[in-house]
Amino acid sequence: MGSRELAAVRADFPLLGRTVRGGQPLVYLDSAATSQKPNVVLEAEVDFYEQRNAAVHRGAHQLAEEATEAFEGARSAVASFVGADDDEIVWTSGATAAINLVTYALSNATAGRGGEAAARFRLGPGDEIVVTEAEHHANLVPWQELCARTGATLRWFGVTDDGRLDLSDVDAVITDRTKVVAFGHVSNVTGAVAPVAEIVEAARRVGALTVLDACQSVPHLPVDLHALGVDFAAFSAHKMLGPTGVGALYGRRELLEAMPPVTTGGSMVEVVTMTETTYMPPPQRFEAGTQMVAQAVGMGVAAQWLGDLGMDRVAAHERRLAAELLRITEIPGVRVIGPTDTTDRVAVVSFVVDGVHSHDVNQVLDDQGIAIRVGHHCAQPLHRRFGLAATARASASVYTGVEDAAALREALAGVRTFFGVE
Ligand code: PMP
Repeated sequence: MGSRELAAVRADFPLLGRTVRGGQPLVYLDSAATSQKPNVVLEAEVDFYEQRNAAVHRGAHQLAEEATEAFEGARSAVASFVGADDDEIVWTSGATAAINLVTYALSNATAGRGGEAAARFRLGPGDEIVVTEAEHHANLVPWQELCARTGATLRWFGVTDDGRLDLSDVDAVITDRTKVVAFGHVSNVTGAVAPVAEIVEAARRVGALTVLDACQSVPHLPVDLHALGVDFAAFSAHKMLGPTGVGALYGRRELLEAMPPVTTGGSMVEVVTMTETTYMPPPQRFEAGTQMVAQAVGMGVAAQWLGDLGMDRVAAHERRLAAELLRITEIPGVRVIGPTDTTDRVAVVSFVVDGVHSHDVNQVLDDQGIAIRVGHHCAQPLHRRFGLAATARASASVYTGVEDAAALREALAGVRTFFGVE
């Protein structure tokens, strides 16, 4: 994107125009935590409430029909954005809920729910679930809990010194005992892109299910879930320019069809008697109760907006931003955790400043209107791997400019002097 085009993109995001900390322009470098929203997304939610608000899938009147059309249209927009079929997209409240949905469906199958069709989801002692040391807690803790409920064992891939997944012992980790391989597409700490094809191939060889945490890839890279060949994937709207409170679980159709429900109640049933219930096919089987309709509509618009811009162009823009952010390594005392080149990584850069606590680094930047994230970024094991309790993290999105990265560099250059560290 040229500077004129970027200026036009930025003009679409009202929040980027505000000032912070005594009238300073906002430098927003915390998009990996949550992204800002373009006008079209904000307007879509307002328009839904002003013009179409009604209960969906109970279309007894015009508004209900229009609401259902908007809701299902959003599902199609999200599906085509990630290379899935419409009925393979289940609305959830976010990626965390999507991953939990899979783990509880597997528990229910283990308890015998779903009958023989769900037998392939059953787990027990001797079975193994494989994750990685780089996972966000959202793609680790639910698997720990599933192991505790079923007696399965958790195993994991380690991480190399430069922050990549260590797959040197892939066949020793993914074995005949492996039933699930759950891994992040892109690390929310190092920005490294996982070798999805290699992991999927190893999982397929042993008939294990694959679950992709696509939270940090879908907003930044072209993602085609069918082409990637994963069985499930989870992502959140709020990181891809959409609203909070909504996200999606992708599941391969035949798997969703065989999977027992998790949350039960209205809107997901066919026939209910006082003793028994039959369930609707997916995706409705997994969408009990009143859904987050306005937010889903907003997510659909966000997907459409990004798709119209072109994810190849978004990725190219962000690759340039990654290079600009990585220039902080030129500052004495600044050390990046993760890959320091732009190959197979996105514009998420975590770093430490030698001799200065990350929270103090954050304070200095915040005083200058620069918003970053500090802490363990919900990835304690990965931080432990590098002997760190916390890092500072700068991350970009489609609206981030090289000026933002320059502001970060300038502010960081003064941090060690500010704290008297040389
Ligand atoms: N996985 C990754 C890699 C993430 O970055 C996040 C959000 N920080 C999540 C999962 C969880 O997403 P959410 O909080 O939207 O459910």
